[in-house]
Amino acid sequence: MYYRTLNSYLRERFGTKVYKLSLDGGMTCPTRDGTLGTRGCIFCSRAGGGEFAAPPAPIDEQMENARRRVAAKAGNARYIAYFQSFTNTYAPVERLESLFYPAIEREEVAALSIATRPDCLPGPVLELIERLNRIKLVFVELGLQTIHPATAGYIRRGYDLPVYDKAVAALHDAGAEVVTHVIIGLPGETPEMTFATARYVGHSGTDGVKLQLLHVLKSADLAAEYEAGRFRTLTMEEYVEILAGCIRSLPPRVVIHRLTGDGDKRELIAPLWSGNKKAVLNAVKRYFEENNVTQGEWYF
Ligand code: SF4
Repeated sequence: MYYRTLNSYLRERFGTKVYKLSLDGGMTCPTRDGTLGTRGCIFCSRAGGGEFAAPPAPIDEQMENARRRVAAKAGNARYIAYFQSFTNTYAPVERLESLFYPAIEREEVAALSIATRPDCLPGPVLELIERLNRIKLVFVELGLQTIHPATAGYIRRGYDLPVYDKAVAALHDAGAEVVTHVIIGLPGETPEMTFATARYVGHSGTDGVKLQLLHVLKSADLAAEYEAGRFRTLTMEEYVEILAGCIRSLPPRVVIHRLTGDGDKRELIAPLWSGNKKAVLNAVKRYFEENNVTQGEWYF
């Protein structure tokens, strides 16, 4: 059994354990502010994917609060300042500078991580990312979710696949590491379709992948679709098997940043088994060992 874990990658790179501090830049998204839509992507909750982010406050204050939460286990560890909620490059560059510089310049911060969309990376933002990357490593997370146009339309992603490819190349030119989000269990997708997405993402040159289970959350429009019986969510066994197929379909160099989602339990409608993260991770470990799952074995 082998796959490239985030923990081992961060240890290789920084020589110590690295924790993420979730920060909130007070952003919105083009799928919410009326530019491309007003209700967001169909699966996205009101919190914009950042259920565990600190509420908006000055960055230094958010950093201190987030650090206090992990202090007991963190010891002398270092941190990734993680701008998680909504689209964190969707603002004028001056505003982005005022968020990112105070975070990246802190001594204890090893890297900056910016979650965004591939269609929200204009030239001045890429230049900013290049400047930031000269200070410390910058990860840029791109919400791709799927390569299949029908699913992309259904989830209201709002951009086409070539936009993602161009963004990966431009971010690499700026020196950033790209982490691509993929959702497992999207309505209408077979396991083979999800493996095709994983393979495509591998060929795109992404440096990392976040694999997430599709959650149905109360404040997301997907809840109405689910309640109307238009699709069903995966069982844990199905999820683990598709997850294993995705890992097998990714090249061995790609770092696996996440194996499952971490939705807010108060918002979770389905699948309820996903609320028990420990049980999910145990099932993943067991399946991977029993089936000798090896990253790259289905990559071509
Ligand atoms: S998934 Fe991302 S882009 Fe879509 S609404 Fe949520 S935060 Fe915005």
